[in-house]
Amino acid sequence: TEPMYRTDQPSFLNAVLEGRCHLEPESLLDATSAVERKFGRRRDSVPAKGPRPLDVDILLYGSRVIRSTRLTVPHPGLCERRFVLEPLLQLAPQLTHPETGLRLAALLQALPDQGVYCYRRNPYNPGSSKEHHT
Ligand code: ATP
Ligand code: CA
Ligand code: CA
Repeated sequence: TEPMYRTDQPSFLNAVLEGRCHLEPESLLDATSAVERKFGRRRDSVPAKGPRPLDVDILLYGSRVIRSTRLTVPHPGLCERRFVLEPLLQLAPQLTHPETGLRLAALLQALPDQGVYCYRRNPYNPGSSKEHHT
């Protein structure tokens, strides 16, 4: 994805994953922050929305709505980011927004082109398969 917000930086590789967990949301945030640190992310030196080795955001937690000092779920950027909605809807095409009930697919359709490309692994020629997705 071409960078949003701070455009003077290289492109990002984005992915969405779905999982089951036994942790409460804030404990999950502690766990994902620990993974970010393990990948070399240091929060003191890099400006917000700048390049980082890894950024793990919690997009949704089932249908729960959470607003605490540390955590907002659904993630506030969810509805405006193609790089989030496209891979998310590949996993779960029927998802609706827990607060508004709107179909995420409809929200995605209304977004402009944001320079999101989809990489598919081509077993015969790895690295060759960049495909414009939006
Ligand atoms: P954005 O959240 O807009 O994608 P970012 O990921 O670059 O920006 P960070 O610097 O990684 O922002 O996170 C700032 C703070 O956001 C974290 O310390 C965390 O407490 C808080 N936060 C609030 N809601 C969430 C969420 N749903 N997932 C991850 N972090 C969250
Ligand atoms: Ca983020
Ligand atoms: Ca983050």
